[in-house]
Amino acid sequence: MPLDTIYLDNNATTRVADEVIAAMTPYYREHYGNAHAIHALGRRAHDAVEDARASVAKLIGCDPGEVVFTSCGTEGNALTIRGLVDAKPQRRRVVTTAVEHPSVMALLRAIEAAGEIELAVAPVGSDGELDLDAMRDLVDARTFLVSVMLAQNETGVILPVADVAKIAHDAGALLHADAVQAAAKIPIDARALGADFVTISGHKFHAPKGVGALMVRRGLKLTPLWYGGGQELGLRSGTEPVPSLAGLGVAAEMGRRALADYGRVTALRDRLETFLRDASPDISFNGATQPRLGNTANVSFHGLMADTVVRALDEAGVCVSAGAACHSGRVEPTAVMKAMNKPPEAALGAVRFSLSRYTTEAEIDRAVGAVLDAVSGKARISL
Ligand code: PLP
Repeated sequence: MPLDTIYLDNNATTRVADEVIAAMTPYYREHYGNAHAIHALGRRAHDAVEDARASVAKLIGCDPGEVVFTSCGTEGNALTIRGLVDAKPQRRRVVTTAVEHPSVMALLRAIEAAGEIELAVAPVGSDGELDLDAMRDLVDARTFLVSVMLAQNETGVILPVADVAKIAHDAGALLHADAVQAAAKIPIDARALGADFVTISGHKFHAPKGVGALMVRRGLKLTPLWYGGGQELGLRSGTEPVPSLAGLGVAAEMGRRALADYGRVTALRDRLETFLRDASPDISFNGATQPRLGNTANVSFHGLMADTVVRALDEAGVCVSAGAACHSGRVEPTAVMKAMNKPPEAALGAVRFSLSRYTTEAEIDRAVGAVLDAVSGKARISL
């Protein structure tokens, strides 16, 4: 990354921490054995995998024996959902929310289209808050799974997973929490949440891309997505990526310890929002009235197209992201903005700024300057 680049797209992915790279390197160069081999190099690799499992368990509040390593959040979500559906439950209904990530929603829609489940979707309100009454009505004696994210990726809004878990369990259903955005941004206690499955993904908290984990509550059964050597409790066959897992473990440990100081990140996000709020009446915030992640600001630039803002900021060296984009002449707001029923001028101009614990005050101040320059020079769109 050029030195003067300001990276505010941490909900998309993060920079791998230097300590994580340092922890991974010996497992490429020296301790490269297969974690299931009996010899010294294998035992060394095995110890690294088990250390990582313990760190991940501590991050999300479960037992190490409940942690299954995966390649990413998408896989953890798929292993839970497909794994339960393929076990041919007697019940047919799955309930989810209108703001889930496509790795949950697109999968559920595909399984529904194949006639394997009946899907019910609980709506959210205008600032992304889950309609718990609707959820209560939808979860019934036909339901075997409720899948709900802990934190929303576009807005950072935190969903009431513990309440939903109670609703699910009262109806005899299981609860899956997609905690990909929440991990290492808020404390997670899978037991206190009442979650039966919890998905996380390393690259969202300074571990490398291509590694994640799924908590499977002890005693619960899933059908694996594929078969082979029986690694990871038989749920995820394939030789473990030991360097990546060593990195994941260190990232989980660092992320957990850094939570105590997460207020610093929240203060920087609030600083960004305050400057923008004061600078223009044409700017509003999405999800900001709700409990939300301290690192996320979803900002609507009314009358501007979000991808125009993102490109202008990119030219100024600031990396942010937009959901709404122009595809073959048609501009569509994101499914999340649609679910929140945002008016078109807010939905089409919604830009996500997502900070990390490495973001500095100087970067936020420079980013604000770049935003104000970018929006002042742009042609308004007419809707
Ligand atoms: N779930 C949520 C809420 C996400 O934000 C993402 C990625 O952005 C995923 C799942 C998928 O994670 P991965 O990119 O590791 O597959």
